[in-house]
Amino acid sequence: MIASRQEALALDRDDPLAHLRERFELPDGVVYLDGNSLGALPRATPACLEEVVKREWGQGLIGSWNEAGWAQLPARIGDKIATLVGANPGELVVADSTSVNVYKALSAALVMALAKRPQRRRILSERHNFPTDLYIAESLARQYGCELVLADVPEQIPEMLEQGGIAVMMLTHVNYRTGRLHDMAALNRQARREGVLTLWDLAHSAGAVPVDLNGDDADFAVGCGYKYLNGGPGAPAFVWVHGRHADTCRQPLSGWFGHAEPFAFTPSYAPAPGSSRFLCGTPAVLAMAALECGVDTVLAAGGMHGLRRKSLALTRLFIELVEAHCGEHGLELVTPRDEALRGSQVCLAYADNAYPVMQALIAHGVVGDFRAPDILRFGFTPLYTRYVDVWDAVQELARVLDSGSWRQARYHRKGAVT
Ligand SMILES: *Cc1c(COP(=O)(O)O)cnc(C)c1O
Repeated sequence: MIASRQEALALDRDDPLAHLRERFELPDGVVYLDGNSLGALPRATPACLEEVVKREWGQGLIGSWNEAGWAQLPARIGDKIATLVGANPGELVVADSTSVNVYKALSAALVMALAKRPQRRRILSERHNFPTDLYIAESLARQYGCELVLADVPEQIPEMLEQGGIAVMMLTHVNYRTGRLHDMAALNRQARREGVLTLWDLAHSAGAVPVDLNGDDADFAVGCGYKYLNGGPGAPAFVWVHGRHADTCRQPLSGWFGHAEPFAFTPSYAPAPGSSRFLCGTPAVLAMAALECGVDTVLAAGGMHGLRRKSLALTRLFIELVEAHCGEHGLELVTPRDEALRGSQVCLAYADNAYPVMQALIAHGVVGDFRAPDILRFGFTPLYTRYVDVWDAVQELARVLDSGSWRQARYHRKGAVT
């Protein structure tokens, strides 16, 4: 562990990925530890959007669907994201939101599973999964006469798989509240043995931790564009399907962009070959352009392994410094110490006062977020987070806790988004 700000600065000088921070527009005086909720703005994005708006749209008008390659954006950006998650070219497309993609992929998986083994009517997930995934699963369970069964803790999942009756296992690879990382390979192996299809949500994984969808033998996956992929607020999401299912699975939102021949304008639906069938309507070209700039910042790191090394070094240092400098305040580390089980964030539970503590931190320029009921969440995007940011964040946390400044009334007011 380091004992001074100087030592943190020295770690930054020795960091082979330090130069990547220059690709981002970050406000002065802010330590941004919320890239897991909204990735920072890439410097290239404004000029790229201006080009797409003024030249491609303004001058090229409708011709840009062909000339500027707008029609290919979902597949082209999909191929770039594929390199980050162990997918092959053509297997992954960018479309819609994560919630909508969960709907499409989970439905496709359920239809396949129920056709093969109609007596198995359970969707397995976790009680502490991100709620939108569970809400969508509830809706599909109702629609297909299935039951959603939830593991209370990750350790229960293997025994629940063994008990049988499961059609599809739907998990989020890195948990949003705890930062805990599942062993995707082991769970997929067991699921395959039990004849269970798998759907992975990579919202907190893509661009943050190495993922190997094909190597680990997953069936379906979805992920988010505005977190570690830096695609901008509400950026389009992605969906992946294993090659063995791509030409046979059916997704329910059978819109014309997923048709084999959208511009034949035939009255009846025929799905496009491969993962393109997961497209529904016209792609949001401006949002896709911003997403591509964001994905390019991750590709500039030259592979996920260097990013993973730095991410673990940042989270390890944060945990050590919090214990050394804030040890007497009763913060509880919720994120696993075991690095094989840790994503790219650190979460600290602080009983009833996590919300005002986070508001006080934000007011002092350290931006993390609060997750109900008691979590202080800090995301470490290795592309632009420095070791000195970790040092400064912990010093500020210690000041807020030591001084009790979080008790001021203004830190207790809640906005619509926390
Ligand atoms: C962030 C996140 C989402 C977001 O879904 P949207 O449809 O983009 O709002 C979904 N699932 C998980 C696990 C997430 O972390």
